[in-house]
Amino acid sequence: MSVIERPRSPAMDALLGREIPVLDHGFIRLIDYMGNDDAIVQAARVSYGRGTKSVSDDRALIRYLMRNRHTTPFEMAEIKLHVRLPIFVARQWIRHRMASVNEYSARYSVLDREFYVPRGEATGAQSAVNRQGRGSDFDPAEAELIADIFRSDAERAYDRYLELLNQDEEGNALSGTRTGVARELARINLPLSLYTQWYWKIDLHNLLGFLSLRAHPHAQREIRAYAEEMLKIVAAWVPHTYEAFVDYRRDSYELSRGALEAVRRMLRGESVAPGDVGLSQREWRDLVGKHPA
Ligand SMILES: Cc1cc2nc3c(=O)[nH]c(=O)nc-3n(C[C@H](O)[C@H](O)[C@H](O)COP(=O)(O)OP(=O)(O)OC[C@H]3O[C@@H](n4cnc5c(N)ncnc54)[C@H](O)[C@@H]3O)c2cc1C
Repeated sequence: MSVIERPRSPAMDALLGREIPVLDHGFIRLIDYMGNDDAIVQAARVSYGRGTKSVSDDRALIRYLMRNRHTTPFEMAEIKLHVRLPIFVARQWIRHRMASVNEYSARYSVLDREFYVPRGEATGAQSAVNRQGRGSDFDPAEAELIADIFRSDAERAYDRYLELLNQDEEGNALSGTRTGVARELARINLPLSLYTQWYWKIDLHNLLGFLSLRAHPHAQREIRAYAEEMLKIVAAWVPHTYEAFVDYRRDSYELSRGALEAVRRMLRGESVAPGDVGLSQREWRDLVGKHPA
């Protein structure tokens, strides 16, 4: 009987249990992982059998799978992370449904006094061109005033939270005659900047989907900070897959029928206007890369 060794990644083994800091109080900690580039290749070869002879090179096979959207081999690798993140980031993150999550319960336990306070260049004005984004930076003095508002409001809400619970930060009663409000109620006025934490387990295919959206310049700066750290983990864990992801997903651009026709006509030396190929001005701007990031 042949024995198959558990696929390992020395880079991931070295990362296990270590906190990677993100934002002011957040972190990502690798709890566990399953598989590596070899495991993806192994899964693909089971399904393709003899058909893989022409693409025997592992890197080439992974690039073929990514290019042709053969997704299930990438689902064979998984990762489990412990993440501490502000609640407003968690609300964006949790929209990615293809993951398993266990979150800290603020009905069961008291939340820590930890808030995200944007500082310096993280404190941007409302963008004039993108309704969903930040524009110009504030000067340092103004940014500090803004940070003070965030911080003092959060501190005050947290003080009132403890008052409602009738306890101090060590868990001692503030008043011997008053009963604390239930934890599940006392929390409801706390700000979205408060940190929560969870265990998050996801397969590599869906992780890459998450990263393609959340490491993108259109994603909010704070969730992007987590996604960028995760990209580094993916690069260390599955280097061939990471390279293929960058080439075929992250740094690529899908062409519509009209866009493809425009590119072909330009390659033949013709001059093309958006209307000639049925593209709107917005689609045309996206194609030539002038859309606001
Ligand atoms: C920059 C940005 C801005 C955003 N703005 C908004 C916003 O203003 N408002 C808002 O509500 N959301 C917003 N979102 C969230 C976005 O619409 C998606 O909900 C989120 O990105 C999760 O994507 P997903 O569904 O592909 O991921 P997952 O939930 O992980 O799903 C992965 C894939 O699995 C499949 N799938 C999973 N669950 C189901 C299901 N129940 N039925 C069918 N197929 C399923 C789909 O193919 C899906 O693509 C924004 C996201 C980004 C990145």
